[in-house]
Amino acid sequence: MKILNTITDLRTELAKTRKAGKSIGCVPTMGALHEGHMALVKKSASQNDLTVVTIFVNPLQFGKNEDLDKYPRRLDDDAALCEKHGASIIFAPTMDSMYDTNHQTFVNNEALEGLYCGKYRPGHFRGVLTVVAKLFLAVQPDAAYFGRKDYQQAFLIKKMVSDLNFPVKVVLIPTSREKSGLARSSRNEFLSPTERTNAASIYEGLCAAHEEYEDEERSAEILRTIVSGCIDHAGGKVQYVEVVSQKTLLPLQGELTEKATILVAAHFGTTRLIDNLEL
Ligand code: AMP
Repeated sequence: MKILNTITDLRTELAKTRKAGKSIGCVPTMGALHEGHMALVKKSASQNDLTVVTIFVNPLQFGKNEDLDKYPRRLDDDAALCEKHGASIIFAPTMDSMYDTNHQTFVNNEALEGLYCGKYRPGHFRGVLTVVAKLFLAVQPDAAYFGRKDYQQAFLIKKMVSDLNFPVKVVLIPTSREKSGLARSSRNEFLSPTERTNAASIYEGLCAAHEEYEDEERSAEILRTIVSGCIDHAGGKVQYVEVVSQKTLLPLQGELTEKATILVAAHFGTTRLIDNLEL
């Protein structure tokens, strides 16, 4: 496995792969990799001749008071994990090779960027879409792999690919969870043992709402209350719970008549966690 740090080196390396008619899968990440990320790497390795895992903590998607500085970084461990699960190249670009000091061009979804996570993290999705577009242009993969855990992000990336005609197949991978049901996240390591136990209430709440839905409950408001009640009860602080359309990602109110997903963000201590469940 090779570790490359500049777009030029990556392009030179991948030109050989493309010339040999081999397919390229790409797994964009910010590192601090865990089993959830490895599900993406394994899927890519099973569907492509070569898998590129990108590791880049993208400053553009962090707000001023967010955890950019304390975001965990451990390239050596990440590289070992990726190699074990079938990656061929780690692309860990330097800041200089990704953003010129005079960078002025951005990709944005103006209709959806301010909803849900975007409401509380202004500029976040503009940062995500811009870096993913840059990574797609650097790697030029046949397929790219993203987790359903970041539901709004996955939706916006699919929309960008469709709106801008990127020749990339986007593959979404189910959320990998800890035994308790807590969605795996690089941020889970910021939780104290008690917070980690309590944070399982996010998924418990989602499952309880799902059960009610299976029992014919169709009120978006009632389903939202079930999720927030469960998190409150466990000492978490709900940031938002929304029931959204799977087709448009827009919020749904009243009686549900179309396929919907519950999105949630909550704090346990100072750690912000997100999760979702399709109904
Ligand atoms: P991140 O490094 O957190 O930006 O995540 C990189 C990719 O891994 C994104 O597509 C995430 O949605 C995905 N991912 C992160 N955690 C999980 C998880 N628990 N299950 C599945 N995919 C995940």
